[in-house]
Amino acid sequence: MVDKLYELTIHEAHKLLKQREISSVELTKAVLERIEKVENKIRACVTITEDVALKQAQEVDNYIHGGNIAPLTGIPTLIKDVICTKGIRTTCSSRMLENFVPPYDATVTEKLKAQKAVVVGKTNMDEFAMGSSTEHSAFFPTRNPWDLTCVPGGSSGGSAAAVAANEAIYALGSDTGGSIRQPAGFCNVVGLKPTYGRVSRFGLVAFASSLDQIGPITKDVTDCALVINAIAGYDPKDSTTVPYAVPDYTLNLIPDLKGMRIGIPKEYFVEGMQDEVRITLVAAINKLHELGAELDWEASLPHTKYALAAYYIIAPSEASANLARYDGVKYGFSEQSASNVVEAVEKTRQFGFGSEVKRRIMLGTYALSAGYYDAYYLKAQKVRTLIKQEFEQAFQRYDALVTPTSPTVAFKLGEKLQNPIQMYLSDVCTLPINIAGIPAISVPAGFAQELPVGMQIIGKPFDEATILRIAFAYEQASGKRRKPPL
Ligand code: GLN
Repeated sequence: MVDKLYELTIHEAHKLLKQREISSVELTKAVLERIEKVENKIRACVTITEDVALKQAQEVDNYIHGGNIAPLTGIPTLIKDVICTKGIRTTCSSRMLENFVPPYDATVTEKLKAQKAVVVGKTNMDEFAMGSSTEHSAFFPTRNPWDLTCVPGGSSGGSAAAVAANEAIYALGSDTGGSIRQPAGFCNVVGLKPTYGRVSRFGLVAFASSLDQIGPITKDVTDCALVINAIAGYDPKDSTTVPYAVPDYTLNLIPDLKGMRIGIPKEYFVEGMQDEVRITLVAAINKLHELGAELDWEASLPHTKYALAAYYIIAPSEASANLARYDGVKYGFSEQSASNVVEAVEKTRQFGFGSEVKRRIMLGTYALSAGYYDAYYLKAQKVRTLIKQEFEQAFQRYDALVTPTSPTVAFKLGEKLQNPIQMYLSDVCTLPINIAGIPAISVPAGFAQELPVGMQIIGKPFDEATILRIAFAYEQASGKRRKPPL
């Protein structure tokens, strides 16, 4: 009998469930007890759905009679609170949606349910996914399991911290500029942002629609492949999904990198990068060479330096349009003290949104307004095209690119809260990937100052298989997963 069931990965738990050595109820109870034990320190969850979870687990146990079960059947998961879950509150960590209970499931939620996954709750995040530390949650900040005085990253900080602290076997996050990869890097877990169009965004509360993607946050690369297998694919409800067949991503998990050409773009070793992070990462990248990959340390993507500026025009512009719907009329928070409609809408938005969200709405509204449109939005779109083309050219020479996930390790709570530009800078290495719409994974690559360092592996459009393979080979070679001191 395995003690500490909550420490299992998906593939380990699946094996035990399939052989009926454990039941889904046992596993779910172990995870719920773990939440109970560590949640007051971590605060990763906005909602815990104990009753729903135990009911789903019981149904699974009634239905497993040995034999074939899907890889996620009976396995407890946490879902970022920006993804709709029918009958379960979906807040986006905002006052605006504090009491919003969606009448439908997101497509990804449906897909997990189709495999009979067990949903144990919803995770904390930066309000409407705007942020890099989870401190912009309207409810409470989440803490990093490796050091409770540090942030877990964001905006999917709740999902990453929860998986690192074993509060779920895996979780879903969303990534608009780095929100899966950056917290995965900060918390020593695996996070994948799929190609734009690979995973349906139906039922994902929109932040910046041309950038948003949903993806897995997992304990290891094999689990990541299993979750992306489950959630990828064409969806008639999301016209941006692409009707390509979904391969079985576990089939490409090969522990060597023979014949692989990998570029390391020098622009990603940015000014302000911590020395220890650089040293740790260089060692990790050299390991890829030992595994058989051919490395080019002279790779270059010169337009990278414009990505941050372009992102902070494009993302707020789209956000300003997407968030126009929160007017207090149809759903969500509604300020009742107003004497007329205009005042009601104004007050609803004044009290319903936090300061970072308002900052983005103002930035976006400004950038889109007549007279400024060409100078900002149009210019940013042109930069976007250049960045995309530069990646296309790079991928004629390389099978993948490798960079740091972030220039620093997790920072202290409060450290960047008063300085939005510093906060924005923590995504310099991740947001160019969303601008180009390509896939990237962050995989644990060692420690600096006793805190985790993430390695980002970037792939060609719809070539998640290759970056998963590189991440897998590295993971196998880098030894046992370290546990956070909890
Ligand atoms: N930190 C970035 C932002 O604040 C990215 C957020 C995200 O990926 N959702 O916009």
